[in-house]
Amino acid sequence: MATTMCGKCGKRSFEIVEISPAQGRYKHNVIQCSACGTPIGITNFQNLGTLIDQQDTKISFLIAQTEKIESLLSEVLTHLRRQ
Ligand SMILES: [Zn+2]
Repeated sequence: MATTMCGKCGKRSFEIVEISPAQGRYKHNVIQCSACGTPIGITNFQNLGTLIDQQDTKISFLIAQTEKIESLLSEVLTHLRRQ
């Protein structure tokens, strides 16, 4: 199996470094050579799958709350029509 090698110095040791690019809205993780700092890749700072799961949970909560409100409004409307 081939292993990743730094294109600049030839070392095979890498590290992840957090960066906040100027004028950027989000942090990123740079995968770089731990010997000379040459970047070999970049990833999102936050795991997008985790963010989607968190948003899905929040959306499910909001849908449940909306359904409760809809049910209560229906009861109020029923009472008002009886009077
Ligand atoms: Zn290097």
